[in-house]
Amino acid sequence: MYKGPKYDFLIVGSGLFGETFAYKAHQAGKSCLVIDKRPQLGGNVYCEKTEGINVHKYGAHIFHTANKAVWDFVNALVPFNRYTNCPLANYHGELYNLPFNMNTFYQMWGVHTPEEAQAKIAEQRAAVSAKLDGSEPRNLEEQALLLVGRDIYEKLIKEYTEKQWGRPCWSDVRGRQWIQK
Ligand SMILES: Cc1cc2nc3c(=O)[nH]c(=O)nc-3n(C[C@H](O)[C@H](O)[C@H](O)COP(=O)(O)OP(=O)(O)OC[C@H]3O[C@@H](n4cnc5c(N)ncnc54)[C@H](O)[C@@H]3O)c2cc1C
Repeated sequence: MYKGPKYDFLIVGSGLFGETFAYKAHQAGKSCLVIDKRPQLGGNVYCEKTEGINVHKYGAHIFHTANKAVWDFVNALVPFNRYTNCPLANYHGELYNLPFNMNTFYQMWGVHTPEEAQAKIAEQRAAVSAKLDGSEPRNLEEQALLLVGRDIYEKLIKEYTEKQWGRPCWSDVRGRQWIQK
């Protein structure tokens, strides 16, 4: 039986959600106990100083919001650097602009107009849809293939996602065999 101090809230997890909840509850006069199974606070956005640089231990994070109330809230807590995210993806020596834009589609297929790119994606999605034959996607791989087609999935989503989450995009018996051409 717990005999320690009493709290209004026990918050399990000190990520963005738990920390924001604790902060707001505290402001409203409530007491909170925040616990976490990791040895540090911050959840997935936790940073560690490595050679003077803040490194996101659990994967890179960029904060963006179109909500002014959220923007004002976070800026009252901490200063932000202005940053435009315009990375190049290197897929086995092929370079692609990210996030996807017409440059990406030109680099991938040599197309010049959104209509040509849409037609290419639609063609690849239709091929996946035919293979699924009406059954629900059973893992991220099938879902992504269904949404964006094979080229975008394999070149710009698959390896990046598997590296970040540390697990394969497919997770059932059909997965590996099914995706092979
Ligand atoms: C690689 C990666 C990149 C991302 N990039 C972005 C980005 O650029 N921009 C963006 O907006 N979002 C990004 N996200 C998503 C973002 O990390 C999450 O939306 C956000 O961190 C979720 O906050 P949270 O508080 O819900 O969960 P988390 O940050 O996951 O925190 C949950 C906490 O709860 C703890 N916990 C869980 N279970 C227990 C338990 N049973 N007992 C005790 N403690 C427990 C965990 O240890 C963890 O600290 C990214 C996520 C990943 C993984």
